[in-house]
Amino acid sequence: MTTGASLTASERQLLGRALTTATVMTHVTPDGPLAKAVELIVADRLPGGVDTLSELRSKGNARRDRWHTPDTEPWTGADWSNAMCGEAGEAANVVKKIRRVETGTGHHLPDTTEHAQLIRNLALELADTIAYADLLAQHYGIDLRVAIAEKFNIVSEREGFPERITVPRPDVDHG
Ligand SMILES: [Mg+2]
Repeated sequence: MTTGASLTASERQLLGRALTTATVMTHVTPDGPLAKAVELIVADRLPGGVDTLSELRSKGNARRDRWHTPDTEPWTGADWSNAMCGEAGEAANVVKKIRRVETGTGHHLPDTTEHAQLIRNLALELADTIAYADLLAQHYGIDLRVAIAEKFNIVSEREGFPERITVPRPDVDHG
């Protein structure tokens, strides 16, 4: 299943049982159109199935409005893009520190614990970057989930690669 990796183990088990039952009852193949339709419906609805970007949008908007209250000057596209690039810079700075550890540069000796902590820091800075990317996208009326899928597919098509991402419906899963 293309979206199975995003489901929890119990959700996958439940979906598997449902598909088996549907297959027996309707004599369709597990990879047929019905199974595909059920898979897409479930992937859109199940908690944890999809999708962090949608939740980031709804919860991120609520949190943005705590900081950006009506009595503050609204941020422009330049402000949001600056914030996003600032976080990307923080991520790059962490990578600089990772490379110091990896290469033993300066006073750094290879240190597994420090390396693991830096990788964790990198994950958090990358997450900040994505959070601001979504806020920047929203500022210009862009659905980032749709844009990610569309752009991925454009590049795959251009390069003649078979990988495709299902383009989500822009009007669902934002709450
Ligand atoms: Mg940060």
